[in-house]
Amino acid sequence: MMIRESQRQMDDAHFRQVVPAGDYFIHRIKAGETFRILDLEGNQAADTLFFNADDPAERYSFMDTTREQGNVYLSAGTVLMSNRGNPLLEIVADTCGRHDTLGGACASESNTVRYALDKRCMHSCRDSWMLAINRHDEFGLAKQDITHNINFFMNVPVTADGGLTFEDGISGAGKYVELEAKMDVTVLISNCPQLNNPCNGYNPTPIEVAIWSA
Ligand SMILES: [Zn+2]
Repeated sequence: MMIRESQRQMDDAHFRQVVPAGDYFIHRIKAGETFRILDLEGNQAADTLFFNADDPAERYSFMDTTREQGNVYLSAGTVLMSNRGNPLLEIVADTCGRHDTLGGACASESNTVRYALDKRCMHSCRDSWMLAINRHDEFGLAKQDITHNINFFMNVPVTADGGLTFEDGISGAGKYVELEAKMDVTVLISNCPQLNNPCNGYNPTPIEVAIWSA
């Protein structure tokens, strides 16, 4: 676990927004700005995608990121790499200690396969992302751009035999992760509505996002 606190104060942020449980957030972050996701009540999962704001075909790549840092977990010091090998953002502070990028996002299909046929219509991260890009076409994102993601605050340990498990969270109320943008990026978050596994303690809760100027 790598804990690194930030000196930034929420009152100094030039942008703040609470994202309710199960809702989405889409926004442009300029190069040099610092972006924080705050887990307001604890044990929440924020399923997040990043894109080059001017060319969404360049996007966050978990393969490039984990290969470059030689670690499957994300924490302070992690540089989030694009599929073209460019730094998108760097995690500059983190009071949770570890974030997942292997587990993927919940979807109607995975809820049906993993849990039950009657979970098909439950809200899911993938549906929230699709709703966001449909309502906000000014960001230029399409279905093909929805690929692998980061699950901030989510606890998905790799087991000794190489498997993955969705475990009870390690985050708590007031914990946060903070990232500095290395280029103009679009951020797309689904504040996970999942009710079938303990990724958010079976109780989805709001998060808050904040941005500080360069
Ligand atoms: Zn989800």
